[in-house]
Amino acid sequence: MHNLPVLRIGEGHDTHRTIGGRPLVLGGVVIDSPFGLDGHSDADVLLHAIIDALLGATGRGDIGEWFPNTSADWKDADSGVLLQHVWNEALNDGWQLQNLDCTISAERPRLGTWKPAIRERVAELLGVTADQVNVKAKSGEAVGPVGRGEAITADAVVLLARSAKTD
Ligand SMILES: [Zn+2]
Repeated sequence: MHNLPVLRIGEGHDTHRTIGGRPLVLGGVVIDSPFGLDGHSDADVLLHAIIDALLGATGRGDIGEWFPNTSADWKDADSGVLLQHVWNEALNDGWQLQNLDCTISAERPRLGTWKPAIRERVAELLGVTADQVNVKAKSGEAVGPVGRGEAITADAVVLLARSAKTD
């Protein structure tokens, strides 16, 4: 019999309110913006969605269980560190990333020119090549919390694979 790899898909979604006086960090990249996102950590909405997608694919709950926003440990935390913590656990269990696809929804700033940098940084954080990561950006079409500029949201889907156990 062939040992077909075990495949697991995971999805993640996150929302943060826009707020003045904080840097805007998306996918580990500091974006030129007159406002940032409110949150306990650095409020990197994209990395939070990716963390939840990875936790979903590996059956490990959600980001709130891993990094409670009541904990002083994660105040202003670099979400890249949180992502790598979760990803290292998955790697230790033999998981490999096949691909990651994600969408950032923001009315402002326009993210088109930032997509390549975000893609490169997310790939670097996960130790994969940029062709395994795709970053999409959408506006909010001027409606709803995103369209009014009150929030930025992100969605992510990952596909993980590992060898089937032979013993
Ligand atoms: Zn978040």
